[in-house]
Amino acid sequence: ADDVTLDPWGSSTVADYRKLFEEFGIEEFDELLEGVPNPHYLMRRGVIFGHRDYEPVAKAMREGEPFAALSGFMPTGDPHIGHKLVFDEIIWHQQQGGDAYGLIADLEAHAARGLTWDEIDEHSRDYLLSLIALGFDPEDGTLYRQSENRELQDLAFELGAEANFSEFQAIYGFDGETDVSHMQSVVTQMADILYPQLEEPKPTVIPVGPDQDPHVRLARDLATRMRFFKVSKAYASFECDDAERELVAAAYAALADDLDEDEMVRCEDAADWLREHAPEPTGARESVAAKLDEAGMEPVRPRTRFFDRQATDDAFEALIDAVDGEKRVYEGHVDAFDLDRGEAEELARQVELDHGGYGFVAPSSIYHRFMTGLTGGKMSSSVPASHISLLDDPEDGYDKVKSATTGGRQSAEEQREKGGKADECPVYELYAYLLANDDDDFATEVYEECVGGERLCGDCKEQAATLMREFLEDHQEKRAEAEALLDDLDIELES
Ligand code: SF4
Repeated sequence: ADDVTLDPWGSSTVADYRKLFEEFGIEEFDELLEGVPNPHYLMRRGVIFGHRDYEPVAKAMREGEPFAALSGFMPTGDPHIGHKLVFDEIIWHQQQGGDAYGLIADLEAHAARGLTWDEIDEHSRDYLLSLIALGFDPEDGTLYRQSENRELQDLAFELGAEANFSEFQAIYGFDGETDVSHMQSVVTQMADILYPQLEEPKPTVIPVGPDQDPHVRLARDLATRMRFFKVSKAYASFECDDAERELVAAAYAALADDLDEDEMVRCEDAADWLREHAPEPTGARESVAAKLDEAGMEPVRPRTRFFDRQATDDAFEALIDAVDGEKRVYEGHVDAFDLDRGEAEELARQVELDHGGYGFVAPSSIYHRFMTGLTGGKMSSSVPASHISLLDDPEDGYDKVKSATTGGRQSAEEQREKGGKADECPVYELYAYLLANDDDDFATEVYEECVGGERLCGDCKEQAATLMREFLEDHQEKRAEAEALLDDLDIELES
C-alpha cells in the first residue's frame, strides 16, 4: 500500500486512496458534496471519492451556467459493469444540464494497445450502444471518434507545441523505444479533455479512475501554458497600449504560481515594465542581475539553452531563487488592482481570448473507486470471471454473481454471531455501485443486515444475482432500441 503509482496504461491497483490525497493533491469529494445539487448516488455513497477542482463545475450547476462533462472509452474489449460507473457519471452531468461528450479513444487503442482497426470498430459500437442504452441523449450530447474529428486533431497539434518529450518521459515513463504514435495519442487525449471548450470556455469535468490522473494534470498544465503563451505574446506585441499592458501584467500575476523556468524568463520583460508601475518595487530585476553576476553569467534568454546547457541551468537556478521577488512585484500589482486570484485568472483568460487564444478553463476531474473483481482482486477486462460484461447473457450474469467471492464467515452460525464483512465483499459492492440504483435505503438495508448478521450470503447472492439478471435483460433490450439511434448518428463504426 506504500507504493502508489498512477499509471494510465498499466494495471496499478490503488490500495490506499488516502495516499492520493496526500501525494497527488487529489481532494476529498465529501468536502464539497453539500454544494452539489442533487448529488448522484455514486457521490452520496462515496464511490466517487475524490476530485480536482470540481467546485467551478458545481457552481455552474447551482447557478445554471454552462458546464461540460467528457469521458473517453478505449475500445479494447466489451464494456463491463466497471465502465458503467463512467457512463452513469457522464449521463448524470448531462441530466443536470451539462454539455455531455462521449468519445471513442480509437487512436489510443491502436497506438498504445495495438488493436487492429477491425477490433476497434466492433468494440466502439458496443460502447456507444451501452452509453445510449443507459440514458445518454445523443441528440443533446456529442459522440465522436478521435480519428474522425478534424478539429480535435488540429487542437492536438497546437497543444503538442507546448509539450515535449522529457515531460512525457517524466509523466508516463516514455523512453527511447516509445513510438511516435503513442506520443501523438497523448496529445490527442489532451485535446479531448479540452475539446468541450473549443467554442466557448466553460468548467469541464472529466470523470475517471484515479489511474488516469496524470492525463488530467497534464491537460490542466497545458491549458495554463497555452494561456501563458498568448498572454506573453500580447505583452510583447506593439499592439498593446499602456492600459492593456497593465491588464497583461495583472494577468501575469495570476499565472505567477504556475510558471516554469522558461516562462519566468519570459516574464522578465513584463517585470521591467512593472517595476515602474508596481506600488512597491522590490528590485527583483536587480537581484536577478546580482545573482547572475555572482555566478559569473550573462543575463539569459531561453534560447541560450541550445548553446550552453550548464550555464543556462545555473542561470535558471539563480532566476528561480529570485522569482520570489518577481512574484511579489506581480502580487503587488494585483493588490493595486484589488483583484483576488480568481478575478486575476479571469482577467488572464480575457487577455488570452482578446488575443486569439482559447481561454480554456483548467479542466476538473472526479475520481471513482475501482470495482473489486467478482473473484476478488482487481476487476479486469481480460479475466471474464472477474467482471460482468454488459453484453453477457443474463443467465451468465446470474451465474457469475452466484459464484462470486463474498465477505461472509466460515459458517452460518458464525455469520449470525459476528455479521458479514460487507466492506470487503464484492457482492455488497454490486449492490452499492449498481443494483441498488438510486435507492439509498435499500443499499443501507443490505449493509446493515449483513454486518448485523441477519443476512446470509446464500440468500444475499441469490437476490443480487436475480437483480443482475434483470438489469442485463433490461439493458440489452435498451441496447437493441439504441441501434436505430446510433445508426442515425454520423459516426463511422463499421469497416
Ligand atoms: Fe456479502 Fe451479502 Fe454475504 Fe454480506 S451477506 S458478506 S453482503 S454476500
